[in-house]
Amino acid sequence: MIKRTLAQIAEMCGGTINDAAVYSGVMAEGVFTDSRKPVKGSLFIPLVGERFDGHEFVQTCLEQGAAGAMWQKDHGLPPQGAVIIVEDTLAALQSLASAYLAESQASVVGITGSNGKTTTKDIVDALLSTTFKVHKTQGNFNNHIGLPLTVLSMPEDTEIIILEMGMSGRGEIKELSLIAQPDAAIITNIGESHLLQLGSRIEIARAKAEIAAGLKKNGLLIYNGDEPLIAQVLGESETRQPENMQRFTFGLQAGNDDYATGLMNAQNSMVFTTKQSGEQAYTLPLLGTHNVVNCLAAMAVARHFGVTSENMAAGLSQLKLTGMRIEVTQAVSGLTLLNDAYNASPTSMKAAIDVLEGLKGYRMKVAVLGDMLELGPQEEQLHHEIGMYITPAKVDRVLVYGPLSLHIAEGARKHMETDAVHAFDSKEALTRHLLEHLHARDVVLFKASRGMKLEDVVQVLQTAP
Ligand code: ATP
Ligand code: MG
Repeated sequence: MIKRTLAQIAEMCGGTINDAAVYSGVMAEGVFTDSRKPVKGSLFIPLVGERFDGHEFVQTCLEQGAAGAMWQKDHGLPPQGAVIIVEDTLAALQSLASAYLAESQASVVGITGSNGKTTTKDIVDALLSTTFKVHKTQGNFNNHIGLPLTVLSMPEDTEIIILEMGMSGRGEIKELSLIAQPDAAIITNIGESHLLQLGSRIEIARAKAEIAAGLKKNGLLIYNGDEPLIAQVLGESETRQPENMQRFTFGLQAGNDDYATGLMNAQNSMVFTTKQSGEQAYTLPLLGTHNVVNCLAAMAVARHFGVTSENMAAGLSQLKLTGMRIEVTQAVSGLTLLNDAYNASPTSMKAAIDVLEGLKGYRMKVAVLGDMLELGPQEEQLHHEIGMYITPAKVDRVLVYGPLSLHIAEGARKHMETDAVHAFDSKEALTRHLLEHLHARDVVLFKASRGMKLEDVVQVLQTAP
């Protein structure tokens, strides 16, 4: 993590030390923003939030052993002690991260897209770690605060840092990309998440294409070639991109720079070869064609940094995913659970349904689907379409939970047997139904927006006899 004197930090973020004669030489190791967890010897950066203002806790953090703290000018006089005064603490956090990256030797990989950022990040990590010392975003720390904190926690000897970049509106990815200045960047796909805030899929594409704005000169942009909107917005004059930007497309379609060939479903994994890698076979220990697409994007990054096909194949076997992304587990009862309850949008819900439909050898295949939130005025229609999307011959039961999901049920009933579709208004009733009707040889998929917390149901099923 960052280790600098307060004088160096002040210089890096454009601040001034309150009592420079005394504190300039004080060494700080790392930074923290959560005053509830003060870190001894580290620099406290008080952020101004809607509900809390970190400045209220500066004094306490200093007393509890922080090496120093930042202080935003408009907050009046700072407390006594090792304080760096800045215009704006959030901007200072970001500038510090930017400067730390610029001083380091690390190459930067940025990842954005509507779905699959965290999964792709984990795959990039598995591939690059075969050959390099890698640091990456932990969990989902992908916003204007999480990203700089990830950068500042990077060990000095890191060779490549992988940064997930999330957003909820225009301008945010640009800001993150300008902080990170990636050598290579990925746009995984364009879905419908944040349709409410952005209004249309083309606006979502423009928001993702902002990742090109901070790309280094000669940088590589890797994007999903199956999505025509990305190429379209890259051609728009308002899309900022660096001089001599290199492009690489991936996807399922054969026209892309890389695509999967000979794709096969194996036990809890996908086996395939790719156009770029020729004979080399890969086993991705994840389910779903969508994850193969994520993997192709990750491979383009690894290839850019010179990782060999053999090392990539070896790296995949070491893949460790962040939880609840189509996690396959066996419940105590023998039932197979597919926990994809981390989040949902129409694109990712369809991807999860594809996975369930592709499974073979089960007595009954059940989809438990909950509401997809933040979709805006088209939400009812988008839920209805999910119901219509399900292939009746490949899914035996559809159980829905939540008010919007009634539209999924309605869509499903258009072409499924009426008694194959059930709606529930409480998780208790849903859980009871599952416990009563399911059998050890069945498989159940769970998918809904984060706010629906479907994992509560998964947890009960996990341990029930
Ligand atoms: P967030 O915006 O919440 O950070 P994310 O982009 O990081 O999400 P992941 O956490 O990797 O995405 O995956 C979330 C869900 O999206 C997965 O559970 C899966 O259902 C789905 N998903 C992942 N990759 C794709 C893809 N390429 N296409 C469609 N759906 C996908
Ligand atoms: Mg994520």
